[in-house]
Amino acid sequence: MWRVTLIFAFISLTMAVDKSVIIIGSGISGYSAASKLLENGFNDVIILEAEDRIGGRINTIPYDDGFIDLGAQWVHGQQGNIIYEMTHEHFDFGTTPFDDIPFTFLLSNGTKPNQELINAISKLCFEIDHKIYTGDTFTGSFGDMFIGIYDGIVANGSSPVFKDLDPVIVKMMKETSERNINGYAAIKSWFDLSAKLCAREELAQGSQHNTWRRKGFKTVFDFISKKLPDPSQHIDIESKVQLNKKVTNIKYNINDVNNKAVITCADGSAYEAKHVIFTPSLGVLKKYHESLFTPALPEQKVLAIKLYGFGAAGKIFLEFDESFWIEEGEPFVAYQFLWLDADKEEVKAANREWMLGISAFYMVDEFPNMLEAYLGGPNIEEFEASSDEKIINDCMWAFEKFLGKTLPRPKAMIKTNWLTNENFLGAYSYPSMDAEKAGVGIQELAESINNNDGKPILLFAGSAMDEKYPGNTHAGVRTGFRAADEIISIYQ
Ligand SMILES: Cc1cc2nc3c(=O)[nH]c(=O)nc-3n(C[C@H](O)[C@H](O)[C@H](O)COP(=O)(O)OP(=O)(O)OC[C@H]3O[C@@H](n4cnc5c(N)ncnc54)[C@H](O)[C@@H]3O)c2cc1C
Repeated sequence: MWRVTLIFAFISLTMAVDKSVIIIGSGISGYSAASKLLENGFNDVIILEAEDRIGGRINTIPYDDGFIDLGAQWVHGQQGNIIYEMTHEHFDFGTTPFDDIPFTFLLSNGTKPNQELINAISKLCFEIDHKIYTGDTFTGSFGDMFIGIYDGIVANGSSPVFKDLDPVIVKMMKETSERNINGYAAIKSWFDLSAKLCAREELAQGSQHNTWRRKGFKTVFDFISKKLPDPSQHIDIESKVQLNKKVTNIKYNINDVNNKAVITCADGSAYEAKHVIFTPSLGVLKKYHESLFTPALPEQKVLAIKLYGFGAAGKIFLEFDESFWIEEGEPFVAYQFLWLDADKEEVKAANREWMLGISAFYMVDEFPNMLEAYLGGPNIEEFEASSDEKIINDCMWAFEKFLGKTLPRPKAMIKTNWLTNENFLGAYSYPSMDAEKAGVGIQELAESINNNDGKPILLFAGSAMDEKYPGNTHAGVRTGFRAADEIISIYQ
């Protein structure tokens, strides 16, 4: 008998348990999952990344002697934001003062509207947004809710501020609010956005616009790999990443507990692992889930993939020789355009409709000669397809029209293409009316697929997979850690 025991002891000593993990995607969620696994002694970890860089929708590029962000830019919130919490004692964040300085509103006929009145309406609009995001009794779309509350307050006229308002202003401010929400939530229309599901999301408290100054959002990866604040604690995630590896199929078999998933890449290479963490965007899942998974994903998950929202947003950076937006003694944070109906028609006729999706042109922290625009709405495709020359011409046409003067051209322009890029196919997720109606959502999106012994073989992480802060970078960290913890717990 002792011989048998000895043999078993020998076998278990020599055959290490197979704890191999393949992570698909090196965005913030994949990187976070890798960090936690490596920290917990899982060394057989590979990250397969389709792009030729890490970071995913965090794309920090060198500019001047600093960096700018084509994707995520702000750490939204402080208390409750895991990114802020893990970094703020070691990083001196800057800010974009959207909450402290009123926006500069401009009319498309080149005049300035009554700023005090416009600011009061704008404040009301933000309060309505907040009410919807924090309410719990709403049904219907964000747009319907907003219009109902806004029209009620303005029509009621009980407040002296909103008495006898010019209907043109009332309409323009409503359209401006829609434009803001389109950009904020990356939606084509605010009638696609579920008010009820928005209210289920949470907001990390504190400043919403913490910036990485001239260092860019990529700094977060040094904190996740613990290179910062103490390089002696560095977890070597970098050597686990294989770039230019586009995964085309993941084959798994839940009926065989010894089964490994087989991951095939576009270049013909194949990998095997006991666990796969899938992190590409919901946009990628929507377009490719049928070819990516063998067998097909469960029905409810597929329904959630089809119906939950994933939308587009864009950015433009314009750098000038000197700023034309700072006037002596006038505080400035952003220009917001108010389009008169006749000018909207002119824009459409001149093939410049994409401009109607711009929420605002705003200052960029620590780049004094730069203005950045954020845009959402239905015309992102048109925006991405436009040449750099056209974007510059259109922007300058609009600035000159709204400011009523001739201006110098920018010395540089950079624009984004998140929707066209096959590895993203959009910007971030949103809670859609379709998902609300079908009763599917983040839970179905995020659920792991287990073998018959109840252990996960296929796990889903990514910023769309977090019920608390969906769509945000901190959601990416949370879901990456969650997937890693799920695997770690099996072996404890
Ligand atoms: C314009 C814009 C502005 C934003 N602003 C903010 C902001 O200010 N603050 C904030 O918190 N969030 C912001 N976000 C959202 C935030 O960037 C994302 O939610 C977050 O970065 C997503 O991380 P992720 O790891 O879940 O996904 P991703 O970053 O998309 O990572 C997934 C990775 O998978 C790779 N991949 C895709 N397909 C395959 C495949 N077949 N095989 C292998 N690899 C594949 C991709 O290349 C990518 O690297 C913004 C996003 C955009 C686009």
